[in-house]
Amino acid sequence: MKILVPVKRVIDYNVKARVKSDQSGVELANVKMSMNPFDEIAVEEAIRLKEKGAATEIVVVSIGVQQCQETLRTALAMGADRGILVTTDVTTEPLAVAKILAKIAEAEAPGLIILGKQAIDDDANQTGQMLAALLGWAQGTFASKVEVAGDKVNVTREVDGGLETLSLKAPAIITTDLRLNEPRYASLPNIMKAKSKPIETKTPDDYGVDVTPRLKTLKVTEPPKRQAGIKVDSVDTLIGKLKEMGAIA
Ligand code: AMP
Repeated sequence: MKILVPVKRVIDYNVKARVKSDQSGVELANVKMSMNPFDEIAVEEAIRLKEKGAATEIVVVSIGVQQCQETLRTALAMGADRGILVTTDVTTEPLAVAKILAKIAEAEAPGLIILGKQAIDDDANQTGQMLAALLGWAQGTFASKVEVAGDKVNVTREVDGGLETLSLKAPAIITTDLRLNEPRYASLPNIMKAKSKPIETKTPDDYGVDVTPRLKTLKVTEPPKRQAGIKVDSVDTLIGKLKEMGAIA
């Protein structure tokens, strides 16, 4: 079984995002970019399935600027087999990404597509679900455990107050939650080996997908500044202050 893993290049999760002065978005110039953390988990899960003999090939896909190639190389260094880079300078929305991924899925015929549950830049949490709808495939979102059994894939999901286990018929879509696994670091020899793994370059036009944004960002603002705290000398003063602030009755 082939596994397709879409990986997005996003602002590194350790970087404190700064809003552009014209409030049109977040500053990306000279900012460290990395693979979306949920996508690292998706790559790791695909590699583990391959190590267990449940998968034969892992294909990683990234859609975005030319530098997404680095994100693909990271996935190849972790253990993916080959990459597909779909280049565009347009900031793609989940529907456009899902349409491109649907075309790639038709061409590649994977048994599983494992995506992150959300990209930490747009926090959309939409692409996997839209892709499942476009392809008419089963979906197991927010997976905390994945087991392949023949042409069935059992996905355990964290739901309110417990765990839910679904049995999906392959081909299927999975989106990863934080607790699914802990991604490995690529070793130096594997980073070197990844340099010679193949990456095919395409454009959205090759797939006949119009990536023109359909949403307009009105403005992006910083969260309100937190006010400085105060120290109180007793529980009674604390309760008095909380009452003053209306935090308790
Ligand atoms: P989102 O719906 O934007 O929160 O993204 C959910 C998941 O879709 C991500 O974790 C990735 O697996 C995939 N994805 C979204 N955008 C891209 C992109 N531009 N390139 C590759 N994968 C993407």
